[in-house]
Amino acid sequence: MKKIMALLLSVGMLLSFAACSQTRSLADIQKSGKLVMATNAEFEPFEYHDGNEIVGIDIDISEKIAEKLGVELEVLNLEFDALIPALQGGKADMIAAGMTADEDRKKNVDFSESYYNAAQVIIVTKDSPITGPADLAGKTVGVQQGTTGDKYCTNEDGESEYTVGEVKRYSKGMEAVSDLMAGRLDAVVIDSFPADKFVEKNSDTLQVLEEALTENEEYAIAVPKGNKELLDKINEVIREMKESGELEQIVNQY
Ligand code: GLN
Repeated sequence: MKKIMALLLSVGMLLSFAACSQTRSLADIQKSGKLVMATNAEFEPFEYHDGNEIVGIDIDISEKIAEKLGVELEVLNLEFDALIPALQGGKADMIAAGMTADEDRKKNVDFSESYYNAAQVIIVTKDSPITGPADLAGKTVGVQQGTTGDKYCTNEDGESEYTVGEVKRYSKGMEAVSDLMAGRLDAVVIDSFPADKFVEKNSDTLQVLEEALTENEEYAIAVPKGNKELLDKINEVIREMKESGELEQIVNQY
């Protein structure tokens, strides 16, 4: 039995080594001529569809990184909860998806310096009796699957300050917002900037509550664990963009 376990363990280790070696070095990226960035283009203004094109703040930042490396940018559009597995499996070189650099994810990926500070906010209808996070108790709340909003509302680790009744998970934030407008949800918990965009489009029926559910979520770019060379380049670009004011300019443009 012990032998079998040892064998299984070593096979497992070999497989994970194989997975590691699939992630590309800086030299590999430059040789191939393209930087593959994975995202979930359902998150305006960070990444969203404009006709057939995927555009947004994360795309603009990623373009800068590709430019720095002297390669083309390729955008891989996936479900949000498929992003980290794709990075680990070597399908992408980095993730730029309004992703919060949270402690759980740090076990699986390395994060760049932060480029945006966000919050998890609550969207409700204008006639809703919900006026703040404490009113979510017993209510049905929509979230985007696999996000920090999902984690906070689901509260598996018991760390959340507020409790909600039932959590409904959606692959697209927009679908949660539609269900809210159709009366199938009491509230939607989602990141602040996308929330503003959703509400902007439905400002006669929806509102973002003033009191946020959480504050201080730092968005950062994720790279495969240990890819320091690539991470250093990304950090260089982020720093340059902050110092020159270009980052702020891009954010304001959306
Ligand atoms: N910032 C949130 C997270 O990292 C949501 C990101 C997203 O939906 N693209 O979980």
